[in-house]
Amino acid sequence: MTNSDAGVPPSLRWRDALVRPTVVSHRASDLHDMREANNTLVLRVIRQHGPLARVAIARRTGLSRTTVSSIVDGLLAEGVVREGETLSAAPSGGRRPTLVHFNESAGVILGVDIGRTHFTLLATDLHAHVIARQSGPWDTDLGPDVCLPRLIGTIRQLISESQLDWDRVVGVGVGIPGPVDATLNMLVAPPRMAGWGGVDVTGILRAALGAPVLLNNDANLGALAESRYGAAIGASDFAYVKVGTGIGCGLVIDGKIYRGSSGVAGEFGHFTVINDGPLCDCGNRGCLEAVAGAPQIVRLALSAGYGQGEATARATANGKAPQPTQDTEVDVAEVIQAALRGDPACLSAVRRAAELIGVALAGLVNLVNPSVILLDGSVSRAGELLLDPIREAIRERSLLAASRAARVQASALGDSAIALGAATMVIDAIFGPPVAIAHVADEAAGAEARATAGTASSED
Ligand SMILES: [Zn+2]
Repeated sequence: MTNSDAGVPPSLRWRDALVRPTVVSHRASDLHDMREANNTLVLRVIRQHGPLARVAIARRTGLSRTTVSSIVDGLLAEGVVREGETLSAAPSGGRRPTLVHFNESAGVILGVDIGRTHFTLLATDLHAHVIARQSGPWDTDLGPDVCLPRLIGTIRQLISESQLDWDRVVGVGVGIPGPVDATLNMLVAPPRMAGWGGVDVTGILRAALGAPVLLNNDANLGALAESRYGAAIGASDFAYVKVGTGIGCGLVIDGKIYRGSSGVAGEFGHFTVINDGPLCDCGNRGCLEAVAGAPQIVRLALSAGYGQGEATARATANGKAPQPTQDTEVDVAEVIQAALRGDPACLSAVRRAAELIGVALAGLVNLVNPSVILLDGSVSRAGELLLDPIREAIRERSLLAASRAARVQASALGDSAIALGAATMVIDAIFGPPVAIAHVADEAAGAEARATAGTASSED
C-alpha cells in the first residue's frame, strides 16, 4: 500500500511506517522501496543524533548530499523536521550551515497500561516525553464489552482536556496483563481475564479512535521502558518482573525483548513452585502467581492474624462476637504499609511471597544469566522487605557465577513504566529502535549504490 492508494495526505507520509511496518526493507529491490527506506533512515538519524547539518546527515547515512537535501526538503514540508539555528562556527571558513532538528511535537502518541485493577494512560510527543497523564482504578473482570468503551471514553476525555489535536495522534500502544499471541495479535486464554481471550482489542480501539493500535504484554512494555529510560539502561540481558494481582515477566535478551516462538515468553507467574499447591487461574496447581500474587499475600497476612486485634476491639465495642476479617476489606497496599510499620503477620506474608518469588527467580538466573532483575507492580512497593529475601533465595539457589552478576532492585519508572513502554513501542514501530544506525546506514548506502548502478538516471 503506497501513500497515494491509502489516501493519506502528504503531510502524514512519515507516519506510514506504523501502518506498513517495513521500516527499512531488507528487500529494497525497487526504487520506491529504496526511497522510502532512505526517507526513514534520514529521519531516524535526525531524530537520534540531531540537530545535524545536511552534510553531517549525508556523512552519517552514507547517502549523497543531493539525496539528503531532497529528503530533508520533503520532511520539512511534512513538518516532522524543522530548521533551527546555525552551527556556531563554519567547518572551513565558509557559510555556517543550518541545522536540521527533529520536530518531536509533530505527533502525539498514546500509551495505555490496562492493569487488572488499575489503568494508566499517557499522551507523549515523538520523543516519549509525557504531555498528559491520567490513571485510576480499573476492573478487567467487567469484561471487554464494558472496559473497552470506558477506555475509549477516557482516551477521548484526556485528548480533549489536554487540548490535543486528534489529527496529530499517530498511534496507540496498549499493554495488557496476559499472553499476547504475536501472530493473532490478541490475548489467548489469559488467566484471570475471563472474556478477554480472542477479543480483537486492537481492531475495536482502531475503529473507535481512527489510529493504528499496537498491543503487547504489559511486562514486555515495562521492560522496554526500563531499558530505554529507567533502571536497565545499557543492560543487554535483564528481567523486569511485575508482581501485582498476577506475576509477569518481560525478558530482554541480547538487547531485544524476547517474545519466544509465538509471543508469549515470560509467563513467569506460571512456574510451578509448590507441587500440588493451590489451584491457579491457569488451571494448574502451585504456580508462583497462585502462592505469591497480591491476593495471596493478603490471604497469608489475614490467616497469620492481621486485623484480628481491630476486629475484636470493634466487635467488643459493639457488644458482638468478633467475625473473621474478610479479604475484600483489606488490600495488598494496606498489608504492605502494615509490614513496613513492622506488623508481624504482614511481615511474614510479604517475606513468604518474596522467598517463593526468589526460588522461581533463581531458576531464571541460572537459565538466562541476567545482569539486572527489576521488581515492579503493587507488591514491589514493599521495597527492601521484598527485595532482600529475593536476593537471599537467588544467592542460595542459583550458581554463584550467575547470581553474583544479577543485581536485584526496584524498577525506576514505577506506575508509568508500562504506559511509557506502550508509547515507546509505537515510536519504535515508526522510527525503529535507537540502535544500529551505522549498520542500517551501511545497508541503505549499499541499496542506493545498487539501485544507482541499475538505473539509467540517478537522483544526482
Ligand atoms: Zn498458573
